[in-house]
Amino acid sequence: MTRTSIAIVGSGFAGLGMAMALRRAGRDDFVILERAASVGGTWRDNTYPGVACDVPSHLYGFAAHPNPNWSATFAPGPEIRRYLDDVAERENLGDRLRLRTPMLGAEWDEPARVWRIDTGAEPVVADALVIAAGRLSEPNVPAVAGLESFAGPIFHTARWDHGADLSGAHVAVVGTGASAVQLVPELVKRAAHVTLFQRSAAWIVPRGGVTYTEDDRARFAQPGTLARVRAKLYGEGEGRFASRSGDATASARAQNSALEHLTAQVIDPALRAHLTPDYAFGCKRVLLSDTFYPAVASDAVTLEPSALAAVDDGTLVAGSGARHTADILVLATGFASTRQPYAELVRGEHGRTLAEHWSHGMTSFASTVVPEFPNLFVMNGPNASLGHNSSVLMIEEQSAYIVRALAERDRRPDRVLRVRPEAEAAYTDEIAAAAASTPWLTGGCSNWYVDERSGRLTLLWPGTVQAFRERLAASDGSEFEPVHSAVRGKERGES
Ligand code: NAP
Repeated sequence: MTRTSIAIVGSGFAGLGMAMALRRAGRDDFVILERAASVGGTWRDNTYPGVACDVPSHLYGFAAHPNPNWSATFAPGPEIRRYLDDVAERENLGDRLRLRTPMLGAEWDEPARVWRIDTGAEPVVADALVIAAGRLSEPNVPAVAGLESFAGPIFHTARWDHGADLSGAHVAVVGTGASAVQLVPELVKRAAHVTLFQRSAAWIVPRGGVTYTEDDRARFAQPGTLARVRAKLYGEGEGRFASRSGDATASARAQNSALEHLTAQVIDPALRAHLTPDYAFGCKRVLLSDTFYPAVASDAVTLEPSALAAVDDGTLVAGSGARHTADILVLATGFASTRQPYAELVRGEHGRTLAEHWSHGMTSFASTVVPEFPNLFVMNGPNASLGHNSSVLMIEEQSAYIVRALAERDRRPDRVLRVRPEAEAAYTDEIAAAAASTPWLTGGCSNWYVDERSGRLTLLWPGTVQAFRERLAASDGSEFEPVHSAVRGKERGES
């Protein structure tokens, strides 16, 4: 058995960021449970051709680990993975990491006031549990009738089959989200032909960006330069919030830029019409690409403007009724996001699972703590994602909140934090009010920010990073149940 003060589940940006924050707060008694054989989270799992970050790299990293050596404005995925390996090494996290150690279940033991974590091998017992398992970890495989009858390789973008030979192959891609717009321009260089199933067109704005030279990197390495670059990028990111959240003027300007981009890159009016979204700008995540439209407009791609509806005896049948053939089928169909798979595994007070608590969609206080789940912290869970700025910033804010909450816990004789249900209800109401008139709820699209069953915005934080920082900083510990006077008495040795 491993006995620890804090167990962190996951070693992507969130898990590593949490570990760093604990170390800086003088807390060294933690372990990081990682089901895979290495750190890196989404950047370990996503190895599809073209994988890259669409947030500028100098902002898409830890403030404590600025990196002057990025190869480009938008670094490719393998470089980000190496960065995370490097951070783990520089932070000396090797002895804290338990690789190939999945959380198969976690149960709150009320009498002992600990979390008991089943890893399939040695159990882990922890005073506090931090879930940093990612919100885009489990591939979403659409329920398409006959999918298994497809004769060739089928795989998801996040589980790329590097054994599949693309050269000379006819590849079908399902989906037109952030992964697909990066993948398709690379596929056209390698495959004989690509058929793209587009259920909904995406709003796409120019990406820009440059490859950095040695001189650039030397400049970034000058003292103070990266801090200035980061501050500028942060400000630009925050500036994008207005256009993503429905501000009329900012949205109209950004939408015009997207339409001009489409017009400039796609000449054929019929194809252009298919690629024009029929819902409000910002409703789905706005994508950045300079290469997707030219690829789709090229002879190498057939755009099927409807969903993959069925696979019939190896033939791909579209919602439109059209039939297509392919040698390889790639599912760029996203992830289980609003219903997090880990929620089934975590059992809190009264034996209730997190999934049961979240049966009407994810809820929390401070996007991090949940009633009935003492000493549990969830990162990247309820209302902690962004569409306008770097998600690493949110991870840093959540880590800081958790460090403060642990300090509050330490002031309590029973060393247990229980969130008041009223605090969760009030926070959920605040989110609902902020989200009510945004395009995520009113824009006429379906998106993975919104819980399917409740129709609430449960994944996205409906504000700026600054607003998130201020909201979390405003919490003063009163979100937790006051310590029961009987407990205080008992701790003082009174009977
Ligand atoms: P996604 O945005 O959820 O896109 C999934 C796509 O699959 C959508 O276009 C969806 O259509 C489509 N789809 C699902 N079932 C289908 C069917 N039966 N037929 C046709 N289409 C179908 O997933 P993703 O592209 O993997 O991106 C997920 C998130 O990962 C991103 O939004 C982003 O946060 C992150 N990501 C980030 C980067 C980056 O550079 N930072 C890169 C890649 C991914 P509908 O739109 O109609 O539902």
